[in-house]
Amino acid sequence: MLAASEFSDEEGRVRALERYGVLDTVAEVPFEKIVALVQQVLNVPMCAVSLVDRHRQWFKAKRGLEACETARDVSFCTHTIKTPEPLIVRDATEDPRFAQNPLVVGPPFIRAYAGIPLRTPDGYNIGSLCAIDTKPRDFPETQIAVLDSFAKLVVEELELRQIASSDHLSGALSRRAFTEQAANEAERARRYGRPLSLAVLDIDFFKKVNDTWGHAAGDVAIKRIAETAMAAMRGSDALGRIGGEEFALLMPETTADNARLFAERLRATIEALDIDAPPKFRVTVSIGVAEFDGDAEKIEETLARADRALYAAKNAGRNRVAVAETAKANAA
Ligand code: GH3
Ligand code: MG
Ligand code: MG
Repeated sequence: MLAASEFSDEEGRVRALERYGVLDTVAEVPFEKIVALVQQVLNVPMCAVSLVDRHRQWFKAKRGLEACETARDVSFCTHTIKTPEPLIVRDATEDPRFAQNPLVVGPPFIRAYAGIPLRTPDGYNIGSLCAIDTKPRDFPETQIAVLDSFAKLVVEELELRQIASSDHLSGALSRRAFTEQAANEAERARRYGRPLSLAVLDIDFFKKVNDTWGHAAGDVAIKRIAETAMAAMRGSDALGRIGGEEFALLMPETTADNARLFAERLRATIEALDIDAPPKFRVTVSIGVAEFDGDAEKIEETLARADRALYAAKNAGRNRVAVAETAKANAA
């Protein structure tokens, strides 16, 4: 029997997917190659790397499919991720789960489907690699084995992609990966009129930390602070190391007020944190917060406003949070 918890922990599953930072990103070569190969080897008109988000499935790569996403309740892949086994449907019109599905009754008129769950190393099924036909058909064992190997490759690529984009010391995103993700989120926030906030965090008197406790102890402080921030933030937030001892935090669906409350909690947690390098010591941080204004600015300008708020926090005595003036006030 399956361990039920693995398949019922929907919150953990969505967080595992969000950690890859791959949703709503542009096409990338490794995934394009995989869907092209699957299409060719299995001789199917349609193939996709489908990632099953909270309410939708989003295609990281696809062949023969028009949409870049579909609602989750019509998705075949949402069934695939419920078990560790492949889901194979010979003829969807004869399967009570799918016979009335709009993607079967209407375009793209799905008939046959084979999907392999994309299983992360920590055991979450975040989506599926699927091959789809418009005619009923069988998928021989050899084809399922090929599809299974490609599904493993998809997860390996997601892992590599994440390692390449993260900073070695802190585990936060690299500056470049963070900037890319911020641009993506900004586009989404602007398109859907959703709030998005940024915070910039800088360790106070860090030169003195290095001078007093040594550079290696300073490195431990950077690591602990990144860990503390990552443990506190939401799955959809992103942390980037944008400078030596400077981090930026991207908070989708968050207004300036809520970002300030979060930053204030994080500041207090860090202030109380024993950094046991050893020796044991404490540090404080200053944080600048700004909310993105999609009508008035680019995300780079939000980052610049957050940075100015950070320096206001430094000037006001450090170990505090400051909120930037709004983009409009800033432009006036
Ligand atoms: P402030 O409160 O104004 O921020 O003072 P500060 O001393 O922290 O000043 P600043 O932010 O300019 O100093 C950053 C210092 O952080 C300088 C540099 O030696 C140190 N630093 C940068 N990257 C690293 C790193 O990876 N490891 C360690 N141990 N130190 C670093
Ligand atoms: Mg600094
Ligand atoms: Mg500093």
